[in-house]
Amino acid sequence: PSLSPADASFDDLDLSPVMRRALKKAGFEAPSPIQSALIPLALDGLDVIGQARTGTGKTAAFSIPILEQLDPLEECRDPQAIIVVPTRELADQVGREAERLAWGEPTEIAVLAGGKNITRQLRQLENGVQIVVGTPGRLHDHLQRGSLRTNKVWCVVLDEADRMLDIGFRPQIERILRKCPRDRQTLLLSATLPPTVRRLAESYMHHPEVIDCCKDEMSVETIEQRYFTVAQNKKGELLERLLEREKPEQAIVFCRTKRGTDRLYRQLARSFDNCGSMHGDMQQRERDRVLQSLRDRKLKVLVATDVVGRGIDISTISHIINYDVPQDCDDYVHRVGRTGRMGRDGVAYTFVVPGEGDVLTSIEQRINKELKRDTMDGFETVE
Ligand code: ADP
Ligand code: MG
Repeated sequence: PSLSPADASFDDLDLSPVMRRALKKAGFEAPSPIQSALIPLALDGLDVIGQARTGTGKTAAFSIPILEQLDPLEECRDPQAIIVVPTRELADQVGREAERLAWGEPTEIAVLAGGKNITRQLRQLENGVQIVVGTPGRLHDHLQRGSLRTNKVWCVVLDEADRMLDIGFRPQIERILRKCPRDRQTLLLSATLPPTVRRLAESYMHHPEVIDCCKDEMSVETIEQRYFTVAQNKKGELLERLLEREKPEQAIVFCRTKRGTDRLYRQLARSFDNCGSMHGDMQQRERDRVLQSLRDRKLKVLVATDVVGRGIDISTISHIINYDVPQDCDDYVHRVGRTGRMGRDGVAYTFVVPGEGDVLTSIEQRINKELKRDTMDGFETVE
């Protein structure tokens, strides 16, 4: 699948022959809209706020210009670019994508995520790195220890920027930004960038260019979006019936809380093989193992919190089920965006219990699209 307009070509982007070969090797035939728009501006050294829908190649959009402009390790052993992402799993994934696009050039990329062995990270930094991908907490940790040197940083990326500038992460992000040279380049990316975030972001940037590839709908057209109205105590049963009906290639079922996730997982595991669960209270090793089995297609159904709501890219995820409605409309956009990657099809279902009608309405308003009502025999409820 591809998203590229017919006339889009990597030829127009003034990339090095090595990068062209890496793109070919990765199977990228033509640039996506955000890539066509962002790469030239980033290569010009401009600050950019880029909004583009889920699964449209934002990672490569910021990685390509960084890789193109890196000084070789012999010239500079301190980090030149820092990419900040909200979760450990996303840090791994972005690190791997950058690694893949760095094909053909020796490139040192360090993933500095929480929950991972810090000694190894210290050693890697000591040996010299060019690009750092990390989570706010662990990056902050390394700043405090003095192990992450920032004086050579010429680019900072905040991926999932609205999440990064949320109140929870903001102090660490501000610390990281303050530590980096003032004349650096700053790139902000997300599928959702509310006006308040854009205004705040501008205070960290120099006259940023704004790219908006979302058009009027927030979600990609290839994701079919439906909802069920269902009584709270019937949700579990409806989920089982829905999984039987749909036979998803792979599905993520989103719950609101960690405890709810554990509970639903235990219930599902009684009747379905190949289920797993993931939330922020699990050991990192277990989180890694579960995500890897999802990538390896050993797991069919993952029950999870919003910890996997952002950024995770697994092309075989065919179904998203919002077992609990998301906290806010932007979370909805990100959850649903774990399917329908790079032009593929996907389906998303949202379970709405009586009294949650206004949540549904606000989601529809935010994404500028109506969800279709779906029904299942025996689960009729009045709204
Ligand atoms: P986003 O961050 O916008 O949600 P990702 O960066 O995770 O999207 O990219 C989604 C998928 O598309 C990844 O698997 C990535 O390798 C792939 N991809 C990115 N750019 C291209 C391209 N130009 N052609 C084909 N596949 C691409
Ligand atoms: Mg992304």
